[in-house]
Amino acid sequence: MFCPHCAKTLRFSQVSEYQVEGMQRYIRCYHCDTWLANSGRIVMTKVVSFYLAAAGFAVSYFWPEWQLPALPVSIFSLVVMLMSHLMDQWSVVEHPPAPRKAKAG
Ligand SMILES: [Zn+2]
Repeated sequence: MFCPHCAKTLRFSQVSEYQVEGMQRYIRCYHCDTWLANSGRIVMTKVVSFYLAAAGFAVSYFWPEWQLPALPVSIFSLVVMLMSHLMDQWSVVEHPPAPRKAKAG
């Protein structure tokens, strides 16, 4: 991934300062010391739509009589998942809400 602030390549294995609150993640760029955040709501949408699509395909495979309602739902969920995946971007934030520092490793 790229840091949206300094546009340099970031490796997750080299990020030493980060903070995770459920689906919401904060990482600190080790080039420019900027805090970056992703949207927890979009990650949640991505996870829910993935499981909805998987469940829809499973239902339409194992119970063919449910194919008519299940298949459109799973295709729609797949589209929602792809859209939320494209929208899942890192953005610059001032600092995490509770500024406690976590060290990796
Ligand atoms: Zn940076």
